[in-house]
Amino acid sequence: MTVVPLVDIGANLAHDSFDVDRDAVLARARRAGLVHVVVTGSSVASTAAAIALARAHPGFVSATAGVHPHHALELGAEALEALSAALAAPEVVAVGECGLDYFRDYSPRPAQRAAFERQLALAVETGKPLFLHQRDAHEDFLAMLRDVGPRLPRAVAHCFTGSRSEAEQYLALGLHVGITGWICDERRGQHLAEVVRMVPAERLMLETDAPYLLPRTLKPRPASRRNEPMHLTEVCRAVAAARAESPEQTARATSRTAARFFGLGLALPELETA
Ligand SMILES: [Zn+2]
Repeated sequence: MTVVPLVDIGANLAHDSFDVDRDAVLARARRAGLVHVVVTGSSVASTAAAIALARAHPGFVSATAGVHPHHALELGAEALEALSAALAAPEVVAVGECGLDYFRDYSPRPAQRAAFERQLALAVETGKPLFLHQRDAHEDFLAMLRDVGPRLPRAVAHCFTGSRSEAEQYLALGLHVGITGWICDERRGQHLAEVVRMVPAERLMLETDAPYLLPRTLKPRPASRRNEPMHLTEVCRAVAAARAESPEQTARATSRTAARFFGLGLALPELETA
């Protein structure tokens, strides 16, 4: 099997389910063909852990710095200062994960909007791209992004699970789209095949969202329900099938897009050729 260069743009490796074997997980990812993993920061604590992991694996791991809408109440003045400081680190390649989640509603909606607004401002200030989360909050989310106007930096709607028309609205706003193993879910991800066909390659990126969203099409079925970056190959396979291209083509195109989006500086000759 040819090893193709893959970039996982969203893995929650700070999650405690990886405490026992984080380095082994990263070693397996390399063996599977991953050339880079962007570790998601979703709270002040997990942002610090993501940065530490990036420092331990220079060139292979980067971090994002943000507060997930579930933790919106955490984002007071002190946390905001911590995020600001984290964003100055060279290992931090994006602001987020931030956004709105009205599906779980773990935090009151006004607090979610306030936390999102502060992080949008941080992205404008620093010029770092945005790693965005949205669930069941499409209208408010879109309105808040539109309010930022032309100062909005590059942004990716991570773990996109929405409809074709939602994808079209995001693309019109200049957003990138992140696709997870949701597309491998025959119960709720079928519509994403049509979505990934219409997203241009220069706006499309792949992610596992590990430890969540283990691709349901993996064969044989892993004993553990925990997802990890090496399974990005399965997301790539599903996206490639939907786009009627080879997994190699999909891997190269999405990795090139991710390298450019996050400014990863990946010196990979494979990334240059189509
Ligand atoms: Zn998310």
